[in-house]
Amino acid sequence: MIASEMLARCGIGKLFMFDMDKVDIVNLNRLGFHSKDIGRPKVDVIAERIHEINPDVVTEPHAGDIMHYNNEELFENCVGRSDAVIMGVDNIPARMYINQKCINQEVLLMDGGASRSAFLGHVQPIIPGKTACIACRGMIEGKIEREEGERCTSSLPTTMAIIAAIQVQETLKYLLGFGKLVNYLTYNGLSGEFTHHVTRPDPNCFACKHLQGDHKTDKKE
Ligand SMILES: [Zn+2]
Repeated sequence: MIASEMLARCGIGKLFMFDMDKVDIVNLNRLGFHSKDIGRPKVDVIAERIHEINPDVVTEPHAGDIMHYNNEELFENCVGRSDAVIMGVDNIPARMYINQKCINQEVLLMDGGASRSAFLGHVQPIIPGKTACIACRGMIEGKIEREEGERCTSSLPTTMAIIAAIQVQETLKYLLGFGKLVNYLTYNGLSGEFTHHVTRPDPNCFACKHLQGDHKTDKKE
């Protein structure tokens, strides 16, 4: 929600939004949702709010499971028509699924999450074949997340807003061609530290190996 609102306020042209959940009382610690929204599909609430903020932004909300076979073609079609995908999911199968769809169509995937602890988070831009993808990252991520701390199921709007803001910032940089993208950025709200990690595509990655050669001569980043 926060990322969508930020993009809308920046004047993004069109937003495809996918989420299978309805607003629950436990979501009210998140920015964007109000008590009156409880029971409504999250994407419908977000689309309505974006229209209030900036009616020039075209929204296309889809309330459903992107991994259900009925929705696969629709999701692929939307990814293919997008310049970038911002991901905020809480489980590995969904992350792998979205990762593969973006790689298949060579669309930037901006991964981000604050799921391991209320105070910890990460942001990683995935440029298919050029930077490490979710599948490449398996080993690296295991190492980084062990360093980050033990699993915690709580969440804070502060940490989520910080991570979403960086995801949007990096996406805008990519879309508009300014600045330098982070590679893999972690945030530790307990120590107040941002740490840059450097990850590279795994030459044996089953997901993005076939694209890696395309970017070998690209010296821009
Ligand atoms: Zn990969």
